[in-house]
Amino acid sequence: MPAQPRPIFPKDTLALRWEIIETARALPKRGLTKGTSGNVSARTKDGFLITPSGTPYEELTEAKIVAVDLNGCYRGDILPSSEWRMHLDFYLAKPSCGAVVHCHSPRATALSCHRKGIPAFHYMVALAGGDRIDCARYESFGTRALSEAMIEALGDRNACLLGNHGQIAGGPTLKKALSVAEGVEDLADQYLSSLALGEPVLLNEAEMADILQKFKSYGKQPGELEGGQDAAFELPKKVG
Ligand SMILES: [Zn+2]
Repeated sequence: MPAQPRPIFPKDTLALRWEIIETARALPKRGLTKGTSGNVSARTKDGFLITPSGTPYEELTEAKIVAVDLNGCYRGDILPSSEWRMHLDFYLAKPSCGAVVHCHSPRATALSCHRKGIPAFHYMVALAGGDRIDCARYESFGTRALSEAMIEALGDRNACLLGNHGQIAGGPTLKKALSVAEGVEDLADQYLSSLALGEPVLLNEAEMADILQKFKSYGKQPGELEGGQDAAFELPKKVG
């Protein structure tokens, strides 16, 4: 009997590998990146899977997605993204995070070049899990120093800007991480527009605390609210 070729990756990771490729290809479609900048990863049971270094998104295949463990070791002949350490440290710092998206989306990057984070100028800054989105100091790409700056800027939130570089966002799933990255880009766009008239009026601590509380119940049906939890908005009267 001829020897069976050795599988090049565990078949149970096939679906996740495809989802990573689809998420990476969504970045240029949604105006979040151009060319090969940006990278996408998803957590696995012993580490994470990440897009490779310098490969055009249209040339990605399941076999080109690289497995990296939580010690930062990888297997195979293809190098992981140059920003593998930021992804690794994101997962180590945030146990509930299942996916990470890094990109040089134009408006977030423009803001990061002024080393400006996004303050509570709009209640949607709460999408990153806090009352603002900070900007990390500048460090050279692909370094441990950049990853350390990212961790500081993240704090207890799940997204930040990276000084003179771009943005990074995480979430429980690839879909959610992508939507947080899109949300950060939208907020950067709106904040830059509002700055045309000077610094906008910021929401105060109590107003943002109220929003963060509401975000916990947003999207839940009345029967899904936990004991004592209020609905996110005034509910209309149900008559049927
Ligand atoms: Zn980058």
